Amino acid sequence: MTVMVPSMTPALTNPALSADLTTPGRQALDSALQQLHQAAEHLGLDHGLRTMLATPRRSLTVSVPLRREDGRMDVVQGFRVQHNISRGPAKGGIRFHPATDIHEVTALAMWMTWKCALVGIPYGGAKGGVSVDPKALTPRELERLTRRYVNEILPMIGPEKDIPAPDVGTDEQTMAWIMDTYSVNTGYSVPGVVTGKPTTLGGSLGRAGATSRGVQIAALAALGRSPDGVTVAVQGFGKVGALAAQYLADAGCVVVAVSDASGAVHAPGGLDVAALRAHAAEAGGVLGYPHADALGHDDLLELDVDVLVPAALENVITAANAPRIRARLVVEGANGPTTPEADEILAAGGTTVVPDILANAGGVIVSYLEWVQNMQAYSWSAGEVDVKLRDLMESAFGEVRSLAGERGLTLRQAAHVIGVGRVAEAHRMRGLYP
Ligand code: NAD
Repeated sequence: MTVMVPSMTPALTNPALSADLTTPGRQALDSALQQLHQAAEHLGLDHGLRTMLATPRRSLTVSVPLRREDGRMDVVQGFRVQHNISRGPAKGGIRFHPATDIHEVTALAMWMTWKCALVGIPYGGAKGGVSVDPKALTPRELERLTRRYVNEILPMIGPEKDIPAPDVGTDEQTMAWIMDTYSVNTGYSVPGVVTGKPTTLGGSLGRAGATSRGVQIAALAALGRSPDGVTVAVQGFGKVGALAAQYLADAGCVVVAVSDASGAVHAPGGLDVAALRAHAAEAGGVLGYPHADALGHDDLLELDVDVLVPAALENVITAANAPRIRARLVVEGANGPTTPEADEILAAGGTTVVPDILANAGGVIVSYLEWVQNMQAYSWSAGEVDVKLRDLMESAFGEVRSLAGERGLTLRQAAHVIGVGRVAEAHRMRGLYP
């Protein structure tokens, strides 16, 4: 089968990938391929290698039958994509979201490959997803769905093959069910098959807040000045956004607005993030928080703040709203929040974007540390984990900033040149079998 080298709007030959460029997932994949294409041009990669890097190594679509509480059976689609395994086992989260499709999962898997290479951990990239709204399921339905999905992708995963983790719509409990399902099928406990587990099952201290801690480290490094009084808006108040807001506030920033699926809240004098987290936990969202004004979802992105942290989903900063973004620094907690067109507009307007594969890498770094602890049957203190996380984040940030400065690249371009370059080098050194 011939695979076409990606152009600016490439098509992969995987039959599950439609040519419809209008779905959010297809737009995310298109962005990922454009970023790869740009890095490959910069690196002078040959046609064959580019094609290999543009194509997932393994891609599985499964039907997941689900017995509902009322006895009906629903069937939803699930996916697991291993984009690249040249540098080590595949690694990547599992997303439960109604809009998840094979295109989105492929894009997210590709970003994981560059992210792991960029921060220097020995993993390839993967991602999984189920097209379902987890909030519409009872806890027992969610458990049955998780276990059946895992059973369907069982041949692909394992501590030396592919290690899932939480993403949008999944959490520690989901990881515990996955670990149990895998272990029951294997016949003994295999904690290293997932990361982001509860600590009682071998989860690492520091993993729950790791992505947000990495966002804080990246934001403070990019600010290059005292965070005292720096104003911040955060889109998304889930696992990443809520703690990113908390850690930035702890560092001295003033978090003036946050949003989640329920709505957005704004307090120009600053939000009490801890109180807002307590409200969101009780009320199921930030809306209705009494010490702030309600704000339109899209208005949050355009507030006059120093730092904007998109920490929800893809494609939220586009060519349509990029000219109105007033933040001077965008730190991408989410994967793929900025389209390539918006990236150009932001760069031209002098806004610095700390790209997803750098800014949100804290999660996979501590996932890696969790896996190392599981493989050694040993555990580190929270302080030891935090020092290792900080070292890897700061060292990757320094490398990206130096390369960007040397070659006149944006931080995203530099991050991709480093990540893609390391994966390309691994392919060259390994050679082609047979
Ligand atoms: P989550 O499910 O815990 O939270 C997602 C949040 O986004 C929720 O608060 C939800 O209400 C909100 N949201 C959804 N639609 C929104 C909208 N239109 N406007 C505003 N908010 C909206 O998921 P998460 O784990 O926090 O992941 C968020 C992002 O961070 C994703 O892009 C994910 O891929 C990325 N990420 C997560 C991790 C991790 O460790 N969990 C690591 C790296 C990157």
